[in-house]
Amino acid sequence: MIRYLTLILILPLLLLAASCGEPNATLPATEHDRLNIVASFHAVQTFVEAVAGDLADVRTIVPDGASAHGFEPKAQDLLKLADADLFVINGLGIEGWADAAVQAADNATLVVLDTSDGVSLIPLDEEHDADEHDADEHDTDEHDADHDHGEYDPHIWLGLTTAQKQVENIRDALIRLDPDNRSVYEQNTARHIASLDDLLNTYRPQFEAVPNRTIVTGHAAFAYLCRDFGLTQNSVQNVYADGEPSAMQLASLIEYSREHRVKTIFAEHLASPDVSRTLADEVGATIETIYTLEAAEGKKTYLERVETNLEKILAALQP
Ligand SMILES: [Zn+2]
Repeated sequence: MIRYLTLILILPLLLLAASCGEPNATLPATEHDRLNIVASFHAVQTFVEAVAGDLADVRTIVPDGASAHGFEPKAQDLLKLADADLFVINGLGIEGWADAAVQAADNATLVVLDTSDGVSLIPLDEEHDADEHDADEHDTDEHDADHDHGEYDPHIWLGLTTAQKQVENIRDALIRLDPDNRSVYEQNTARHIASLDDLLNTYRPQFEAVPNRTIVTGHAAFAYLCRDFGLTQNSVQNVYADGEPSAMQLASLIEYSREHRVKTIFAEHLASPDVSRTLADEVGATIETIYTLEAAEGKKTYLERVETNLEKILAALQP
């Protein structure tokens, strides 16, 4: 909280400095040729770009290589909001910093869009989650103080049907802001939704054909993807990616992986690779990387990364 108060106090000074140096930076939103949109983190950025196409400038708060979990914006990051027309977030508490950021930006015309609106959500298993936090021995100040742990799993951008709803929400917000370009936003959105439908239609029958549909991931990011394709997820880290399993939890993961004949342990770039490695060694599995899209990972598009994930999971489940 102290950090946010500091931001609120110093942001007006930064804005003043920015406006002195660059007179054009203070143009009101109505004089922009293109919409000025800020996305919270990478996956949200890809959705905004898919819908807006060339009609908007899109900037992102969480930088490449940083995790969306436990991120804390600096004053400079929040300057982006000061002259934006629209701020798009995933929602469900993963951007625990967003409310304070909007307050600090002090932009009376800024529209904030929570893309989780109307999405079919998966509730978190409260008991399971509490256990993991009790076992969590690291410095909790860094992660827990500034980010809300909501009652639903926030990883909706990794599910294909949930991502479709997020894209529709972005389309509706853009049409409200810029009705002249309605048809462009509608076409772009229809194209993106059709691509996601193609993936659903291609991979659903293939997953239905495999007898064992259990996957083990680094952090529990794939519940919505699993729901789309009838899979079951277990994981080394919880949905917040904050904390490693206790010795007892690791032992039960090892037992679980053996019981379900798990041959591949999926690990993300930002998850704890040591524990995943220990688990893989114990059960004789290999480690395979998987995209969470929480940060930009290489040059692949959203759709390419989702398809790569589906290919790797399918390959891992072959008998
Ligand atoms: Zn995550």
